[in-house]
Amino acid sequence: MTHHLLRWEATLWAAGHRVTRQRALILDAVCAGEGHTSLGEVFARVRRVDRTIDRSTVYRALRLFVELGLVLTADTGGGELRYEITKPHPHHHLVCRGCGREQEIGADALRAMTDHVSRQHGFRVATDHLVLFGLCAACSRQMP
Ligand SMILES: [Zn+2]
Ligand SMILES: [Zn+2]
Repeated sequence: MTHHLLRWEATLWAAGHRVTRQRALILDAVCAGEGHTSLGEVFARVRRVDRTIDRSTVYRALRLFVELGLVLTADTGGGELRYEITKPHPHHHLVCRGCGREQEIGADALRAMTDHVSRQHGFRVATDHLVLFGLCAACSRQMP
């Protein structure tokens, strides 16, 4: 599982948080998503293993993971934040407004834009996880 690469226990300890079975379970549930997962989906997955965990415990753990950089959030337009395990390489997402399909692209794709911003405005962009909306190739072909 992806998060075993993250040394997440060490990260929790270093920040003064306990490593609990529940937190491990919640991180597993985020990993199981292979991409973006809503709070509801994470919660459902956790509940299948342990029925005693409540929604607020899951929410608090996710917030902690985000704060510690173990989990990324993205707003993919469904009105709900999506959670995703942090990957070793920065990336962005393309979300199709037509069919809802998501695609992942490397951070290089937007480097020209961030370089331009830094040259023109002296502003060093630190955002390394963006969601871009549009139409995928298949949907574009169907649109006039
Ligand atoms: Zn992502
Ligand atoms: Zn599409």
